[in-house]
Amino acid sequence: MTDTAILWFRRDLRLADNPALDFACARFDRIVPVYIHDPDSQAPWQPGAASRWWLHHALLKLSAGLSERGAELLVQQGPAGDVLGGLAGRFKADAVLWNRLYEPALVERDRRIKQALTQRGIEARSFRAAVLFEPWELTRDEDRPYRVFTPYWKRMQKDWRPVRPRSAPDRIAGIDSSGLDERGQSSGRQSIADLGLVPEHDWPDGLAACWQPGEAGAQRRLAAFCDESVERYDDARNRPDCQGTSRLSPDLHFGHLSPGQIVHALEASGELPGQAGALAFVRELAWREFSGVLLQHDPELPEHPLQTRFEAFPWRSADDYADDLEAWQQGRTGIPLVDAGMRELWQTGWMHNRVRMVVASFLTKNLLIPWQEGARWFWETLVDADLANNTQGWQWTAGCGADAAPYFRIFNPELQAEKFDPQAAYIHRWCPELKGLGVKQLAKMDQEMRDARAYPRSLVDLKSSRRRALEAFETIKN
Ligand code: FAD
Repeated sequence: MTDTAILWFRRDLRLADNPALDFACARFDRIVPVYIHDPDSQAPWQPGAASRWWLHHALLKLSAGLSERGAELLVQQGPAGDVLGGLAGRFKADAVLWNRLYEPALVERDRRIKQALTQRGIEARSFRAAVLFEPWELTRDEDRPYRVFTPYWKRMQKDWRPVRPRSAPDRIAGIDSSGLDERGQSSGRQSIADLGLVPEHDWPDGLAACWQPGEAGAQRRLAAFCDESVERYDDARNRPDCQGTSRLSPDLHFGHLSPGQIVHALEASGELPGQAGALAFVRELAWREFSGVLLQHDPELPEHPLQTRFEAFPWRSADDYADDLEAWQQGRTGIPLVDAGMRELWQTGWMHNRVRMVVASFLTKNLLIPWQEGARWFWETLVDADLANNTQGWQWTAGCGADAAPYFRIFNPELQAEKFDPQAAYIHRWCPELKGLGVKQLAKMDQEMRDARAYPRSLVDLKSSRRRALEAFETIKN
């Protein structure tokens, strides 16, 4: 008698260091790898357009990697519980295996699935693959979650444990398509293209020019980061004008890499322990896990501020801000660093962290547009859109989150450009009409200069809009 396991791929789209896959290979004779497209289980945060584009290509790569090793990726659509229940019966599966995700809606879905499978006598087992520490492992006294980053990070360092990432299995004992047909069960099978993930217009061309989704692309990005950037990460990570960060955020989101593999690569290159760049980088990985902790304990965060007094913040009305929001989205605010960032986002599906903070501060404070509008746009356009990180990033910048920047710290985009893009190289790259002007000249552009370069007039005066934001904050301060 053969033992069969269904291996449910989710956002762990890799073959190396994949605990559910390793377990399946060690324990089962036949493995049925499946991807289930079930966006409604994430409602109202179904994956945005850039994420869907990434997912499409990542699934193609995963499918190719599996078939090289003897297994075929089964692609399905529909409520995951129903699909898994059907597959388990069809393949007479003894077990369903997956790696854990931590968004509250998915935790609840997975809990129900586990319960239903177990009731049918099918083993349902999940594994830690996406984080260094489970959200419930690092807690304060009486199991209370951390709400402030620094103590969380201290605790993580104190509880640090060695990582031992595993390489991909050479062979995976899959079932072949003829096996499927013999049972007359080919009717429910779908191709990756059937999922309709790629938008029809030509917007993804820009994404394709910058990214190679999938495990191999992630490994290349990691190797390049270890070779070229990690040493100076501590200083360069704030500079959008140079490649100072890893750009691994989509790989971490889709699970092309585990954080353990990243830590291991830093150790192998001699950067960990001890080097300041690598430590600063691991601290960012800790921010990622901290964001997950916050969301797990407060499922309402994507819509509601952690600091509840901000529910009463006097944002402008949607009718009043609609045009300004569109100008911000399109990179035509008339503020060069903001426009450069928003155009980078549109053209590449990614934006540098420093610039994310600047554009988010401009939207929420200078334009008084609710942070949820910005979070939604990022969700649609970022290839690394991640519910926990995006929510935390927006709330932090808007001043209403955990450990947030104090409200009165309003980023001045001109000073930020002077400090972090001193030659205006980043601005010139994304706003080529401004080439030839230094940061100081950019800050002083008059209407004639703007007209000559077909560059828009500034939506707001930075000083007076800053004052207006502070006055708005006064109304909820106490
Ligand atoms: P690196 O500097 O190389 O950092 C390594 C990894 O650490 C990143 O890949 C990411 O996984 C994690 N990380 C880095 N900075 C942060 C942070 N501040 N918070 C949480 N994790 C972090 N990150 C996302 O992954 N998805 C999002 O949707 C997202 N939305 C954001 C929205 C706003 C308004 C802001 C201010 C930040 C947001 N971030 C988001 C965090 C951060 O900007 C990105 O993770 C980072 O820019 C990705 O580039 P990188 O991989 O080169 O980062």
